[in-house]
Amino acid sequence: MQLTGKFGPYGGCFVSELLIPALTELEAAWLDARDDDAFRAELSHLLSQWAGRPTPLYASPALSADIGCRVFLKREDLLHGGAHKTNNTIAQALLAKRMGRTRLIAETGAGQHGVATAMAGALLGLQVKVFMGAKDVARQQPNVRRMELFGAEVVSVEAGSRSLKDAINETLRYWTETVADSFYVFGTVAGPHPYPSIVRDFQRIIGEETRTQVLAQAGRLPTAIMACVGGGSNAMGIFADFVDTPDVLLIGVEPAGHGLDTDAHGATLTKGRPGCVHGSISYLLQDEAGQVLEAHSISAGLDYPGVGPEHAWLKDQGRATYESATDAEALSAFAWLCRAEGILPALESSHAIAAARASRGRWQADDVLVVNLSGRGDKDLAHAMAALDADTLPPKETGASPSQRASRSPS
Ligand SMILES: *Cc1c(COP(=O)(O)O)cnc(C)c1O
Repeated sequence: MQLTGKFGPYGGCFVSELLIPALTELEAAWLDARDDDAFRAELSHLLSQWAGRPTPLYASPALSADIGCRVFLKREDLLHGGAHKTNNTIAQALLAKRMGRTRLIAETGAGQHGVATAMAGALLGLQVKVFMGAKDVARQQPNVRRMELFGAEVVSVEAGSRSLKDAINETLRYWTETVADSFYVFGTVAGPHPYPSIVRDFQRIIGEETRTQVLAQAGRLPTAIMACVGGGSNAMGIFADFVDTPDVLLIGVEPAGHGLDTDAHGATLTKGRPGCVHGSISYLLQDEAGQVLEAHSISAGLDYPGVGPEHAWLKDQGRATYESATDAEALSAFAWLCRAEGILPALESSHAIAAARASRGRWQADDVLVVNLSGRGDKDLAHAMAALDADTLPPKETGASPSQRASRSPS
């Protein structure tokens, strides 16, 4: 079977000619690997023994009481590394090794994908070079240290706005010079073909496990699945196995920053228009002249101006819908889940929790809602506490009567 690089009018492969052979080779290697029992067995072994799969599907009493239906959390926060990113990096690193590459290269924004790549490189004995905007290097020192501890080299990118999109451009440039021995570990379901398909396939285990677990625990498929969307990999991962099951609603949640009426947010599918960035066509935050806008969100992991092309297509077809949550709503959900369930969610994942809580009233008591808890929030502590303490951003309750246990002030 051939991977298709197109999702309706979206996707494709718009890169320097110098990279076409590498991307063609990558596609062939993946098609070969995914049909190879030995590759699948090794990946499966590492995912279970090293990374801790399967992750639990947890029936949350507090969210169920709060929302008024049966709510489950898919616990990617419990995966080694603290987020779903490990599923992708370990698999791409294994593919790199199979292709005879000796060096992994990666872009990173807040540093989470860089750390996940560095971990995989350490495990498999591959050299790792991570490109990071200079601005991010300065504000994400703990992640820079983590990458260095795992043996990676962190390259500070001074070009442009010195943030994620510049780091991606720099990684692509470095890759053109070193294609013979470098493997580009792309961090989400965006970028040139075949990355959107490869990353989706490496993340789809989230949805496959969810299907089995929810059938065993709830005796039925979910009414709806909700997941936060930055580039879109954790959402595509949990959606993929359900796309052909039309009864299951798929809901992506984008960051609205301070609110959708402001310029600075990351609600690409809600507020963007089709355009081309980083090698493929998708919705994109851009100004009148087509300049790529910088995304802003309280969660650095959602600060990506683009979104995966498959999401753009799912949206246009009406197969998935996309909502948004503001910084304040995400912070409120973050604090609420800590108190209500003893679970510290990532700020990214808190957007999905916020949208789930705001959806109360939409469901019947026997409906089943699955929310993807994409990662844990330890990395966000300092940032979240500062925002929660600031008078300008009070943690406000959205909507009606939360359970008594959860209604205590989170401050
Ligand atoms: C990186 C990250 C995201 C955003 O990336 P996607 O590709 O949209 O999944 C979401 N949640 C967590 C915890 C992350 O680390």
